[in-house]
Amino acid sequence: MQRILVAGAGGFIGGWLVRELISRGNEVTAVDIKPISQWYQVFPTVNNLTRDLLKLENCDELTKNIDQVYNLAADMGGMGFIENNKAACMLSVLINTHLLMGAKKNGVLRYFFASSACVYNAEKQKNVDIEPLREEDAYPAMPEDGYGWEKLFSERMCRHFYEDYGLETRIARYHNIYGPNGTWNGGREKAPAALCRKVAQAKYSKSNSIQIWGDGEQTRSFTFVDDCIEGTILLMESEVKEPINIGSNEMVSINDLGKMVKKIAKVELENEYNLSAPKGVRGRNSDNTKIVNLLNWQPKVSLQEGLLKTYNWIEEQVIAEMKRNQ
Ligand code: NAD
Repeated sequence: MQRILVAGAGGFIGGWLVRELISRGNEVTAVDIKPISQWYQVFPTVNNLTRDLLKLENCDELTKNIDQVYNLAADMGGMGFIENNKAACMLSVLINTHLLMGAKKNGVLRYFFASSACVYNAEKQKNVDIEPLREEDAYPAMPEDGYGWEKLFSERMCRHFYEDYGLETRIARYHNIYGPNGTWNGGREKAPAALCRKVAQAKYSKSNSIQIWGDGEQTRSFTFVDDCIEGTILLMESEVKEPINIGSNEMVSINDLGKMVKKIAKVELENEYNLSAPKGVRGRNSDNTKIVNLLNWQPKVSLQEGLLKTYNWIEEQVIAEMKRNQ
């Protein structure tokens, strides 16, 4: 049993992580800036707190009598959010910095930071059929503007807290995590949730098309949240101190992702392409050689299986919203 602080616990990945950590018998403190009524998942047996982790005094207070910190707190979203909110994304550097300072001061044993595939050099992501990204492809540095720079800088802050102060840090580079109980509307949602919502809305409003951002040929891989949680805890408990990919290597185009969602929803819909919408890099996939070698693990949930669960949950949200608006 460990005393664990989960920062960003009201968010998508944080909620699933708290669930798993409790089921493994840990004592969890869950914290988020959002009021608890807005958290995606709330567990009554946990110490649930609303605090702003940009503030050093809060990070200092919350890291007292804690063995492990999982930092999943960030002001973030999909491409539509991060391309238009670069300063806000970069300010999350304060969350990680202040949590690290509190962790060091209060003798926390282990610290996890949720980094992102957005740290990878943009030059290596210019084609749809790119080579999967290896961990060393983050340097020379040319990450996603704003959000990616914050993640890369925070990764290095973790590394130096280990090198200079001996704080054990673990860093995962997540590749597009998706699943139920996450952001599906409001402007911060990512491609899988956005497509599931658009298809469900079209299905119930009897529309015959959905909008796709860009030409839909851009490629990505998508990681189901169960795999993300399993990989995250495995990494935290390991001796792997360098940043490592946690990502599926099942690469698809956004057009193919849309086709899969329509098939799950049992609808036929045309695509309308919005070429001026934010679309991110042209191609991205995860190389899992390192995680397989070091942890003998990689994501296993197929995109079909994960999308089915995600679509069903989002369809329920869309129906509930339609009923509220009637
Ligand atoms: P999320 O937005 O659902 O969760 C982040 C949570 O952090 C939110 O609930 C938010 O309210 C909270 N937060 C923001 N500012 C805060 C503050 N000042 N104090 C306290 N809490 C604050 O996002 P998520 O998808 O669960 O992502 C979790 C982490 O994983 C983030 O660091 C994100 O950058 C990283 N990540 C996610 C993905 C993905 O595909 N979801 C990919 C790469 C990296």
